[in-house]
Amino acid sequence: MTSEHRFGTAINCIDGRVQQPVADWVKKNYKVDYMDMVNEPRPDKVLSQPQYSIVNALKAKVGISINAHHSSVVVIAGHHGCAANPVSPEEHEAQIRNAVKEISSWKLPITVAGLWIDSDWKANLLVTVPHK
Ligand SMILES: [Zn+2]
Repeated sequence: MTSEHRFGTAINCIDGRVQQPVADWVKKNYKVDYMDMVNEPRPDKVLSQPQYSIVNALKAKVGISINAHHSSVVVIAGHHGCAANPVSPEEHEAQIRNAVKEISSWKLPITVAGLWIDSDWKANLLVTVPHK
């Protein structure tokens, strides 16, 4: 059991520049000790225009984090300078909001949050859907 530690989960790009900002933001704002990282290139785009084979794989990975580590929050992050998804910040924001809706539809027993990582590699909260 790992009950002495609190976990959060992130669905984040593979980009090495955005791992620490996302992990740090969740640790600070949700008081978690460790972050489980589910990495996929351009996850904001993937989850806003669902291709079900990829979406189901991401869902299964998030499920392991929740079941094994009792994660309390899952964040989806999009970021500035994404090689796999070179769209405007506004388009990223729209994708992140749609991705949060998609993840919320999975009806997980945890909070869902959408983050934008800006050109200063700072995490900005766009939307949060608290677990009811
Ligand atoms: Zn990226």
